[in-house]
Amino acid sequence: MLPYKTKICEPLPLTSREEREMEMAKAGYNVYSLPAETVTIDLLSDSGTSAMSQEQWSRMILADESITYSRSYFHFVEKVKEVFGYEYVLPVHQGRSGEHILFKVVVNEGDHLPSNGHYATTQENIHFHGGVAVSLLTQRAFDPHSQDSFKGEMDLDSLKSLLEKERVPLSLLTITNNDGAGQPVSLKHIREVSKLLRGKRIPLFFDACRFAENSFLIQKKEKGYEKKTIPEIVKETFSWGDGCFMSMKKDGLSNVGGFLALKDGDLYEKLRSFLLLIEGFHTEGGMAGRDLEAMVLGLEEVLEETYLTARVEQVHRLGERLLRSGVPVYQPFGGHAVYLLAGEFVPHISPEEFPSEMLASEIYVEGGIRTLPDGIKGWNKRNGPDSGSQPFFEMIRLAIPRRVYSESHMDYVAEVIGRVYKRKESIRGLCLTYDPPFLKHYIARFERI
Ligand SMILES: *Cc1c(COP(=O)(O)O)cnc(C)c1O
Repeated sequence: MLPYKTKICEPLPLTSREEREMEMAKAGYNVYSLPAETVTIDLLSDSGTSAMSQEQWSRMILADESITYSRSYFHFVEKVKEVFGYEYVLPVHQGRSGEHILFKVVVNEGDHLPSNGHYATTQENIHFHGGVAVSLLTQRAFDPHSQDSFKGEMDLDSLKSLLEKERVPLSLLTITNNDGAGQPVSLKHIREVSKLLRGKRIPLFFDACRFAENSFLIQKKEKGYEKKTIPEIVKETFSWGDGCFMSMKKDGLSNVGGFLALKDGDLYEKLRSFLLLIEGFHTEGGMAGRDLEAMVLGLEEVLEETYLTARVEQVHRLGERLLRSGVPVYQPFGGHAVYLLAGEFVPHISPEEFPSEMLASEIYVEGGIRTLPDGIKGWNKRNGPDSGSQPFFEMIRLAIPRRVYSESHMDYVAEVIGRVYKRKESIRGLCLTYDPPFLKHYIARFERI
């Protein structure tokens, strides 16, 4: 059951099939370019799309908008320290600013930065500073139908051999693994990675966007953690690392925001100087005091078990409905999204003809549902200077915004995708008409073949 009720309602845009056909063509068959007012159910991202609570909205009025060292800054720092246990905290306006500042300081030309899976901006920020992003996702992830609980992890042997061969200033763990079909990482694995790195005096940083969902999945699936509370699991997780960067647009239950948090005071001083250059003052990170206050409560609310249970159950129920209609989906389901397997959905479309982009545009045309095609990486691999990602599946991510949609919306989503699945043989591919230099998938344009 959802542990909240609706107080303010926002009408859903309803459109005709003809309008959607026209909008999709105008957007160059790239769902990122659709005007949001033409989208009925938006599953493009769970980032910055959460519904805030009445407590968050009311606390924003009480915020302090002083230029430096505002009351809201002290609230924020105190909350981050309490939840994550790191001494030094720097607010930034969203996750990628934290990445940019961190890599600017720690990455030198030719350095290798391993991870279980780099998010697109993480990878580009590493490359931008001359580093090499190396994804060491476990082979267990490459079976999309196995029920293995923690397929978001790294391959430890690959990590060991990379540490022998290359200069590694820092290792990353993304929890949950957004690029690895939203799969979680176990505490057993976190401990093993941490011990391996500590032996070589290499710091471990978490990409912590979905830390609460990862902790919830640990509580539900990892032996020995059934009786631990979510805040206890969070504390243990971060105690094995040296720092983290976080997009508060995800598990911060906020529409904007992020932070860097770490143990090392010298590194903090270096990061702070760049933050002043890029973001704003180091006590606000380019945000208003009210944004800081919204995040403080977001960090409290996201750790409530009633909330997390409803959140993750909603994701899993959508996945199960799709499975019942025969739609190929990645299993098991993660914490924030269901991933369709485009390669199995439309096996007759070759990867060069962008099956996931095409399928996402068909799902939009069928029912006004916007999803995230996650296949262009395969294409990057063939054409671009990509050193990071291993070839993964052609997938479509249905990311569910937090506290926004009801079960009836999810029923509609499953029904529409079921209809597209029934007519899958008639779907043809796309060809590229605009090929941007980097972060291609956000702004590329296509035409139907
Ligand atoms: C969203 C995301 C980021 C980047 O955060 P932004 O707030 O969008 O800049 C980094 N890593 C992961 C895993 C993400 O999902």
